[in-house]
Amino acid sequence: MRLSRYFMPTLREAPSDAQIVSHQLMLRAGLIRQEAAGIYAWLPIGLKVLKKIEQVVREEMNRAGAVEVLMPTLQLADLWRESGRYDDYGQEMLRIKDRHERDLLYGPTAEEVITDIFRAYIKSYKDLPKNLYNIQWKFRDERRPRFGVMRGREFLMKDAYSFDIDEAAARRSYNRMFLAYLNTYARLGLKAIPVRADTGPIGGDLSHEFIILAETGESEVFAHKDLVEMGAPGPDIDWDGDLQPLVDQRTRLYAASDEMHDQARFESEAPADKRMTARGIEVGHIFYFGEKYSKPMNAKVAGPDGADRYVQMGSYGVGVSRLVGAIIEASHDEAGIIWPDSVAPFGAAVVNLRVGEAAVDEVAEQAYRALTEAGKEPLLDDRDERPGAKFASLDLVGVPWQLIVGPKGVAEGVVEIKRRATGERQTLPLDAALKVIC
Ligand code: ATP
Ligand code: MG
Ligand code: MG
Ligand code: MG
Repeated sequence: MRLSRYFMPTLREAPSDAQIVSHQLMLRAGLIRQEAAGIYAWLPIGLKVLKKIEQVVREEMNRAGAVEVLMPTLQLADLWRESGRYDDYGQEMLRIKDRHERDLLYGPTAEEVITDIFRAYIKSYKDLPKNLYNIQWKFRDERRPRFGVMRGREFLMKDAYSFDIDEAAARRSYNRMFLAYLNTYARLGLKAIPVRADTGPIGGDLSHEFIILAETGESEVFAHKDLVEMGAPGPDIDWDGDLQPLVDQRTRLYAASDEMHDQARFESEAPADKRMTARGIEVGHIFYFGEKYSKPMNAKVAGPDGADRYVQMGSYGVGVSRLVGAIIEASHDEAGIIWPDSVAPFGAAVVNLRVGEAAVDEVAEQAYRALTEAGKEPLLDDRDERPGAKFASLDLVGVPWQLIVGPKGVAEGVVEIKRRATGERQTLPLDAALKVIC
């Protein structure tokens, strides 16, 4: 991408209503533009990052055996009347009427729709387990949309739904998602803590929220430090094998959000020097809820004995658009965003310090071509701007590498590279510089 032809509208200062650093940086770096309270247009850089996060989430869902579908944003109110949630859901639901006076809604989640799809096709335990997911826009008419995409009204969510013949099988499905979530966040450069969450009237221990530590987070978490330090299980686990030990290893250490916190239990399960209390951002939530929807919506499957039973369900959400903000909260400095390589909008930026000087242009073009061929999705800063302004905007946007081409270096046969995260610089011949980046 040539920056002279691109659309990267950076701002010198963040609008004063942006209260937290991720929101400020997303506006300043030109990632999003607010169209209405909690409703955003995604500008090119923001969209690129959003798509990259989406892709990491997708790959980890697929690896864990989930199958992608795409459900509509608009749903029929009648389905929600079947489950009994239409009246209960309250003011967060955006209710719409079509020209035939039929009640629709902009989906805040999709348990009803997926249950409707499931019951239309799947009738036997032989077709189980199934886990269907989609990555789709949701709408919740939040009372206080704020912090930019962190609490939007329209937001992108990955929501997966598992279907199993009995509770033991449902637990296996739950475990797969539990571990897949940890791998997903790790690939995004984040340390997510799985904390026990409220299961409501169903009870049991099968609900966890995944929390990223950040001072601006809206949740309070209490956790054993060993859990905070524990790494993700990694992709090479036997997804069809017994995952319970890997889950137990994590869930036996104390971790709870404010709603579930029990101070006495915390103190008895974690020694004083291992107790962490901090604020965090909920970036995912997984839930086993059994027959909550299958029963009222009559989604049944025949078991091995031929008798029908209600399918056992769980649901698993990731806040894809919230993650853009969460990653920035976790990774930035005074100069701007520091993207992890896995979601960076560009792998590297070639900075031409003397646009129009043939020898410099030629080396810059050569570097740009080589990075393109290496799959680095480079940005070529060919703007007619002062070097300081170029560096400031590339630092702000957070491109992981800058490859700087100037007249002095070109005369000496070298370029400079800078790693955004550390500020470390090296002066090298172009070939060697490309080797470091690629
Ligand atoms: P919160 O407690 O922040 O209101 P929630 O518990 O209502 O979130 P869930 O129903 O668990 O949300 O949805 C799954 C995921 O969707 C959440 O973990 C979060 O990452 C994301 N999410 C929920 N609401 C929003 C929102 N208004 N804006 C952006 N992401 C959201
Ligand atoms: Mg909510
Ligand atoms: Mg919540
Ligand atoms: Mg939640």
